Amino acid sequence: MKGFFVVIDLGGTNLRGAAIDLKGNFLARSSSPSPAPLPKREGMVKLREEIEGLLERGFSQGYKPLGIGLGIAGVLSRDGVLTQSPNLQNLAGVHLNEELDDSFSLPVKMDNDANMYTIGEGWRGAAQGVKDFCCLTLGTGVGGGIVMGGELYRGAYGTAGEIGHMVIDEDGLPCYCGNRGCLETYISASGIVKKAAELGRKVDSSYELYEAAHRGDRLAQEVFGEIGRYLGVCMANLVNMLSPAMIVLGGKVSGAWDYFVPSALEEMKRRAFRYPVERVEVVKGMLGDDAALWGCTYLVSQDLGINLE
Ligand SMILES: [Zn+2]
Repeated sequence: MKGFFVVIDLGGTNLRGAAIDLKGNFLARSSSPSPAPLPKREGMVKLREEIEGLLERGFSQGYKPLGIGLGIAGVLSRDGVLTQSPNLQNLAGVHLNEELDDSFSLPVKMDNDANMYTIGEGWRGAAQGVKDFCCLTLGTGVGGGIVMGGELYRGAYGTAGEIGHMVIDEDGLPCYCGNRGCLETYISASGIVKKAAELGRKVDSSYELYEAAHRGDRLAQEVFGEIGRYLGVCMANLVNMLSPAMIVLGGKVSGAWDYFVPSALEEMKRRAFRYPVERVEVVKGMLGDDAALWGCTYLVSQDLGINLE
């Protein structure tokens, strides 16, 4: 019997999943709103149902489930407790590893969603073959992942790589995480809306601002230029601290690339050490919404010692 994995990307806005066979074919896909607004118990029920549905759909096609990979928006301990999650507050404190082990009796491998994204882009995407790189996912929140020497860097307690919570302005806006002035407060979708309001443009979404910029609206373009500068400060810090060969920018906000990346690059070059900053490549993620699903697939297969074809 051929095997397959169920992989899940649980964010603050969407819950996406897939059943993927060992050749990397999608046997099934699922997408629904995130259980973020639901109370803890209902949220876990929804997550289990999503996994169950994908297990059944793979099974009904004659495949045997081998394991589950889960990327989740939040700070996970090494043993699988969601210790803190600005975007999934109701699930904070849940021992996800235990809960899912008990439910499915299948090996479960989980990590932060941005780490999964990073592993995915490194395996099959923009950073294929690159040994030292950082990823930033610019979306509902700002996620980050760091690969050094070909390995994801998790730190002593499994929580490393929260690039979105690098402080860019010590007196800046309050962040969901409890700190102030984190990068996320400027360049997440909601941060962009706030920055636009501050600069005199009221919009309901970052996409609305993007459309305005696209139509040639100067003020909208200036807002993106401004938030790009915050990103540039962050990237200069990354370059000085880690000297990555590449910085991958992904997430839905990266669709507005032309409007914020030029000012980000300018700011980064102005601030960082010349030798590494002249060499670092800043590129767009290649795998889109599937990056984290690929990362989950890689991690769970590696954990089980299964080589994907
Ligand atoms: Zn923060």
